[in-house]
Amino acid sequence: MSGWDELDRFLLTDPRDVGCDEAIRLLHVYADVVLAHGRDHAVARYPGIAAHFLACGPCREDLEGLLLAAGG
Ligand SMILES: [Zn+2]
Repeated sequence: MSGWDELDRFLLTDPRDVGCDEAIRLLHVYADVVLAHGRDHAVARYPGIAAHFLACGPCREDLEGLLLAAGG
């Protein structure tokens, strides 16, 4: 196994990524934490969901929409 293979895999898929279903299921929980404690706290608390929002445009848009609607 070469370092480049590892790097490629890291860039393509984050192993912590929970996937769309879980991200959407916990979207409002994640948004609540962002609004209450800030994004850094949400990332630290839910790294798998944060990884998914980084990787998945549609889910990230849902999150941003929710934060916007909530005034965050
Ligand atoms: Zn997604």
